[in-house]
Amino acid sequence: MRKSYKQYYLLVWISLILILGFVAVLATSYYVSRETLQRGLSENALPITGDNIYSEIQKDILRPVFVSAQMANDTFVRDWVIDGEQDIGQISKYLKEVKLKNNAISSFFVSDITKNYYYPDGLLKVIKDNEPRDQWFFRVRNLKAQYETNVDPDMANRDNMTIFTNYRVVNYEGKFIGAVGIGLTLDTMKHLIDSYQTRFNRSIYFVDKKGNVVLSGSAFTHKKANIDSIPGVKTLAKQILASSKNDSLHLEYSTDTENYYLNSRYIPELGWHLLVEQSFDGELKPLHRLLMMNAAIGLGITLTVMLIVLLSIRRYQNRIEKSAATDPLTKLLNRQAFDFVFQQAILDSERSRQPLCVALLDIDHFKKINDKHGHLIGDHVLKEIAAIAKRSLRESDVICRWGGEEFLLLLKNCSLEKATSIAENLRATIAANDFSRTTDLAKGRLSLTVSMGVAEYKSNESEDSMFERADVALYQAKEAGRNSVYFSE
Ligand code: GH3
Ligand code: MG
Ligand code: MG
Repeated sequence: MRKSYKQYYLLVWISLILILGFVAVLATSYYVSRETLQRGLSENALPITGDNIYSEIQKDILRPVFVSAQMANDTFVRDWVIDGEQDIGQISKYLKEVKLKNNAISSFFVSDITKNYYYPDGLLKVIKDNEPRDQWFFRVRNLKAQYETNVDPDMANRDNMTIFTNYRVVNYEGKFIGAVGIGLTLDTMKHLIDSYQTRFNRSIYFVDKKGNVVLSGSAFTHKKANIDSIPGVKTLAKQILASSKNDSLHLEYSTDTENYYLNSRYIPELGWHLLVEQSFDGELKPLHRLLMMNAAIGLGITLTVMLIVLLSIRRYQNRIEKSAATDPLTKLLNRQAFDFVFQQAILDSERSRQPLCVALLDIDHFKKINDKHGHLIGDHVLKEIAAIAKRSLRESDVICRWGGEEFLLLLKNCSLEKATSIAENLRATIAANDFSRTTDLAKGRLSLTVSMGVAEYKSNESEDSMFERADVALYQAKEAGRNSVYFSE
């Protein structure tokens, strides 16, 4: 359990680092893009929309102002009034011309002397100072500026919403003698606003100096409201209305559900503020999609890397296990591992000038034991012999499973004589041992013997040569009738 936990430590760390890395990259890129988008929207996109609308409507709005100014300064109009408004046909013909030429919806002249309201078809009515619909005239009479623009239902034109330019007409002494102007339907502007609204998903509307919504696209939900009552926008109402310069304000507000950017621009020709706003959350949708996509890619890469690391760990582990140093049955060193130990022992021996011996042990007639009692007993015997050998040797000695039923003992700091005696002791112990005591598998006493060949390492001798001598000694022991220890001179 502890081991497997440690094994996956690396995996956990790599995944953690990868995930943290991805999250950091995603978060920073998201916030940078978000900020760029925000700034772009508030400082570029919205003001550009405002500018475009402004330049488009300027054509529509300034034209009636120019036309009205021309009418007000026309000597014909002034002379006709000064001459006593004699021939109505003359003024109506003039108004008809102006209307047709300018593609206007209506044109008018109202005299201050007679209070007559002239239009292209003649005399429409006489205005009264107690009539609410005629109030505009008395307002224009007292106007400090030369003209005003306002939106009113036009009586001469089936009460359609019309934008009027009311221009003051004065005589040659500068005294007010009437108001002249033309009216344009708001439809063109409405179309314009609607097309912008659908194209850019922006809300566009105009408010007058008091903050009343005077013109908006058809989808606008707060028609005729005052901005100080529109949720969110009301927090900006003061700021918007305080501006009287033709430059744009970058503002933002939020409602309970969304955040908006609002660009406000005062249009002096109209005395109105042009407001262009957009919800920022809608703009973020593609960014969210991108974030999700990047997160999915990051997750995919993390999982792939984790899988590769996991597989590498497994493969590495398998390889280690295959070449493991110990023999799985007896838990002794195997031959490959023994090689390292042996090299080291030779070096030590040469340095310390201490004798070094090996004893090769082979079980006598092991084949018969297998044949008679079965392989399981055979395996048990191998384990038991390993245990007995371990017990009877010193801690510094090394035992190795040399082959099937052969063991090699490495006896350090040990003379040939001593080694032979150790081997002899081991042989005797094994010969006296009842192998059935430590297993339930065997029926009755189970005895066996071993033969051993001992050799001492000779300086400058090759490894193979020493093992060969031990093997020869072992062969001699076998030849001599087994259950004996022989040594190589
Ligand atoms: P001797 O050495 O006395 O000449 O006779 P032997 O029967 O021991 O000779 P041999 O070396 O020919 O036989 C060795 C046998 O050991 C053959 C093989 O079946 C058995 N053996 C080798 N490794 C194992 C093992 O891991 N488990 C078991 N049960 N048997 C093994
Ligand atoms: Mg053998
Ligand atoms: Mg044998």
